Amino acid sequence: MYKVMAVNAGSSSLKYKLYEMPEEKVLCSGNVEKIGLPDAFFGIKFDGKAEKVQTAIPDHAVGVKLVLEALTKDGIVKDLSEIKAVGHRVVQGGKYFSHSVDFDEDAEAKITKLIPLDPLHAPAHLVGFHAFKEALPNAIAIAVFDTAYHQTMEAEDYVYPIPYEMTTKYDCRRYGAHGTSHDYLVHTAIKNYFGGKEKGTRILSCHIGSGSSLCAAMDGKCVATTMGLTPLGGVMMGTRTGDIDPSVMDYLCTCTGKSVDEMYDIFNKKSGLYGVGGIASGDTRDIEEQALKGNEQCLLAANLFARRVADFIGSYYVRMGGADLIIFSAGIGENSAWFRKLILERVQDALGLKIDYELNEKVRGVETVLSLPESKIKVIVLPTDEEVMIARDCAKRYENGHC
Ligand code: ADP
Repeated sequence: MYKVMAVNAGSSSLKYKLYEMPEEKVLCSGNVEKIGLPDAFFGIKFDGKAEKVQTAIPDHAVGVKLVLEALTKDGIVKDLSEIKAVGHRVVQGGKYFSHSVDFDEDAEAKITKLIPLDPLHAPAHLVGFHAFKEALPNAIAIAVFDTAYHQTMEAEDYVYPIPYEMTTKYDCRRYGAHGTSHDYLVHTAIKNYFGGKEKGTRILSCHIGSGSSLCAAMDGKCVATTMGLTPLGGVMMGTRTGDIDPSVMDYLCTCTGKSVDEMYDIFNKKSGLYGVGGIASGDTRDIEEQALKGNEQCLLAANLFARRVADFIGSYYVRMGGADLIIFSAGIGENSAWFRKLILERVQDALGLKIDYELNEKVRGVETVLSLPESKIKVIVLPTDEEVMIARDCAKRYENGHC
């Protein structure tokens, strides 16, 4: 038995989960939030207890120190040397990474090179990595990439129709994101519904939360995904536009006098359900509540979201020459019966789906088959688990020497 830590470092936050392996038992989880701000705090959950401490956390290194101190203070580990590996979630792996790797100098250099593709997260990943490396110098460190699972896409699924030398010179192409989640969902479904046999499976994975993406997987491998060069592309999301005509950028900059940077920020943070709904919230619970009270704009936002997801389901059905399974996952897919219904109603006739809508109403965060036996495609809810995938890669690296 040994322990591994899954880490997700953001610009002002750091989420962590400690596992006992190979059992995949969660020993504790928590987060450090608002790093560098006056109201910074760190939280830890273990043994059914939850602690939250507000304290000065000027940088990630201090946050990591607090987490590690709490692990020994609360008796979750006797000695920090029990932690054999730390797995870091990295959003953008670009063209370099098709699987998890040691977070060594070479990986660090490549992730640094990728900062222009992900200026929001990449620097934070590097800061998180250094903070853990300093605190646990003997633990193996690995990097697990959100883009890695999508590296099996073919050129016609990832090349943008821009001058080709721009694709090759600047590596400007679709990379996708949420790959760790889609990988988990596709392979859990193959294990649970196809007897573990990848060959011949056609799975449509819908990871729909505040960030949303769809992935088409054939034989267990990604063939297409909705997010693009960055997580801004694809379906409409909580606060992001998803795919829009590129001319909207230029036109709105001209209309409003805003800079490209300002408009880009609006596309990322003020659009999607938040932007269309007009209630200063991109949370589907708020949108649903207002829509059901008669707020037309919120109803439009919800219908628009459902339409975008339905359109991609149709597109991926064609891409795979059919589908055997549709998965709903993440915050909305796992929890919102109303949004699932809005989407399913838009595709059911074309795809021959027969859904148990009474059952759909009851399902929150639990693996469930929503379709009836006569449905042409099985439809399920399957909670995602990105952290366990990171923990598994850590375990593989610790036990076998490679991820
Ligand atoms: P992310 O990981 O991208 O931050 P999540 O997958 O956790 O997001 O999804 C969060 C979103 O899921 C919320 O913004 C909300 O829209 C939706 N959500 C979460 N819980 C519920 C719920 N119980 N009912 C409806 N929607 C929910």
